[in-house]
Amino acid sequence: MDFSLSEEIEFLRENVRKFVKEEVEAVAMEIEENNEIPEKIIEQSKEMGLFSLSIPEEYGGLGLDMVDKCAIFEELGKTHNGFTTLIGAHTGIGTVGIVEFGTDEQKQKYLPKMATGEWIGAFALTEPSAGSNAANLKTTAVKKGDKYIINGSKHYITNAVDADVFTVMAITDPEKGAKGITSFIVEKDFPGFSLGKVEEKMGLRGSHSAELFFDDMEVPVENVLGEEGQGYVNALKVLANGRAGLAARNLGSCEKLLEHCLNYAKEREQFGKPILDIQTIQNMLADISLQIETLKSLTYRVAWMTDQKQRVVKEAAIAKLYGSEVYNKVADLAVQIHGGIGYMKDYPIERYYRDARITKIYEGTSEIQRNIIAGELIRELKRKEG
Ligand SMILES: Cc1cc2nc3c(=O)[nH]c(=O)nc-3n(C[C@H](O)[C@H](O)[C@H](O)COP(=O)(O)OP(=O)(O)OC[C@H]3O[C@@H](n4cnc5c(N)ncnc54)[C@H](O)[C@@H]3O)c2cc1C
Repeated sequence: MDFSLSEEIEFLRENVRKFVKEEVEAVAMEIEENNEIPEKIIEQSKEMGLFSLSIPEEYGGLGLDMVDKCAIFEELGKTHNGFTTLIGAHTGIGTVGIVEFGTDEQKQKYLPKMATGEWIGAFALTEPSAGSNAANLKTTAVKKGDKYIINGSKHYITNAVDADVFTVMAITDPEKGAKGITSFIVEKDFPGFSLGKVEEKMGLRGSHSAELFFDDMEVPVENVLGEEGQGYVNALKVLANGRAGLAARNLGSCEKLLEHCLNYAKEREQFGKPILDIQTIQNMLADISLQIETLKSLTYRVAWMTDQKQRVVKEAAIAKLYGSEVYNKVADLAVQIHGGIGYMKDYPIERYYRDARITKIYEGTSEIQRNIIAGELIRELKRKEG
C-alpha cells in the first residue's frame, strides 16, 4: 500500500495546515460565540479549492482521490469541527452523489458552481420515522407529466440553512420498500420547498442543521439522480464513501488534542515538577498516541482500497466506528490531562469534547457500523461455504 502524496497535494496540504493554524484557529472562539463561520474564512476556503475536493477537474474541481482527500481532511480535523463539518458535508455527502450518479447535464449544471463554493451542497435522507432505519421514509414523490410532486419532510440536515442544492431521497413506489426509493436533486428555490426549525445543538457551532419541508414541491424529471428505484442503494454508497473522510477528520482532531496535551503537560507543574514527568500522565499520552496511530493505519488503508476500487463496506465501517470511538476517548483523556482548565470554555479542549460526541451518531451510528461489520463477516463466511 502506498500512502505517499504527490508534490502538488503536499503543497495543498501544507497550505491547508497553515490556513487552519493561522486563520481558522484565530476565529474558533468567535464561531463558538456567534454560531457562524466568518465570511472571510468561507472566502479563503473557496480560494483554496476546499469546496471542490471531490469534483472532477473537467467540472472545475480538484478531483482528488481518497488518499489525497483524507490527507486534506486530516488537516481540517485539526481545527473547529463546525467549520470542518460544513466543508466535509458539502465535499462528501453533498457532492459525491452528483459526481457518481449524475447525468452529464446534471454535472454541467451543478458541479462547477459547487466546486467554487458558490452553491453549497447537502444530503437529505433522515426523517422523523427514518433514522437508523433509513429506508422507512414517508416522503413521497409522484410523477405528473414532466415533474415529480414531492411531499414530506426531513430533519437534522447538515448545511440546510446554507445549502443551495440538496440530494433528497423520496418514495416513488411504496410497494417496493427500499427498492421504491429515488434520489432527486432539489434546489432551494423550487416551489414548495421550505426550511423548518434550525436546531440548537450540543456542539458543532457554525454548522447549521435544520428541518426541510416539501409541500407539493415541483421537481423536474431531469432532476432524478441515478435510476428510479436506486435512491436508497445509491444513498448507502454515498454514505460509505464518506466514512473514510470522517475518520480522517477525527484523526486530525485527535492529533490536535495530543498536541494540546503535550504542550500543557510540559508547562503545568504540580508537586514541584511538570505533570509530563508523572507516569500516570505519560500512560494517558501513550494511550492517545496508540489510538492515533491505529486510526491512521485504518483510515489510509480504507482510503487506498477505495482508490483501488476494492469493496470497502467492512473497512469503511471499521474506520468510521473506530475513529468515532477513539475521538471520544481521546477527548475524554484530554480533558483529564488538562484537569479543571479542560472543562472551561476559555480553552479549546471542552469544545472538542462536545464536538466529538456527534461522530458516534451521524452518517450512521456506532451500533449501525457494528451491524454493517457483522453483516459483512457473515457474508464472507457464506461465500467461503459456497
Ligand atoms: C448534527 C447532526 C447532523 C446530521 N446530518 C444529517 C444529514 O446531513 N443528512 C441526513 O440525512 N441525516 C443527518 N443526520 C441524521 C443522522 O444520520 C441520524 O441522526 C442517525 O442516523 C441516527 O438516527 P436517529 O437519530 O433517528 O436515531 P435512531 O435510529 O432512533 O437510533 C436511536 C438508538 O437506537 C440505536 N439503533 C437503532 N437501530 C438499531 C439497530 N438495528 N441495531 C442496533 N442499534 C440500533 C441507534 O444506534 C441509537 O443508539 C444528522 C444528525 C445529527 C444529530
